Amino acid sequence: MGQNEISKMKNEIIKYGNKLGDKNMSPATSGNISVRCGENILITASGTCLADLSEGDIVLIDKNANIVEGMKKPSSEKNLHVAIYNLRPDINAIIHCHAPYTSAFAVSHIPLSKPIISENVFYFGEIPVAPYALPGSDKLVENTAKFFVKHDAVLLANHGIVIGAKDIKNSYYLMETAETFAQIYLNSMLLGGAKELSQKEIEEIYDLKQRSIQTSC
Ligand SMILES: [Zn+2]
Repeated sequence: MGQNEISKMKNEIIKYGNKLGDKNMSPATSGNISVRCGENILITASGTCLADLSEGDIVLIDKNANIVEGMKKPSSEKNLHVAIYNLRPDINAIIHCHAPYTSAFAVSHIPLSKPIISENVFYFGEIPVAPYALPGSDKLVENTAKFFVKHDAVLLANHGIVIGAKDIKNSYYLMETAETFAQIYLNSMLLGGAKELSQKEIEEIYDLKQRSIQTSC
């Protein structure tokens, strides 16, 4: 992949890092973003603020998380990103952040599984909670990556959320959707609790999803 192409992808990461910052989903230096870049992976460097990235803050690593190009240390969660890419060839962009509403569910060990908004049933089904492990540890990778066999978004207990999609735009949209869902879910609790969709209504949504997958193939 040429330098122009790599620079273009870095600028996409910068753009969506800014958006995460604008929506208060990446406080201070929390979180990290990566995109698949041919055989390698572009990932934000350790200690960078996602809302204030420059091209030099994004490092190229290989599938063993070794640096290919870049002066900075890649994110401490690089092994989690690598493990998800190795598991899911259809995922090309990953966002991990400590967005406040989804993280509130993560620290409470409550999965975002209640079928209360059709859009979230459609996109996620359920967002499970992976058991706690120290950030940046091998145990975190072991506890979390396996959930991506069945899910595109996973809460990290006492930590945050990680989301993967076919490109960075869709990863960002899923992140915004999950965070809004968590906010609505939490607010509904203050109002006495949301009314769940019925099994029939949920099945209709899954049918709709199945049909939209078939027509997009
Ligand atoms: Zn984190």
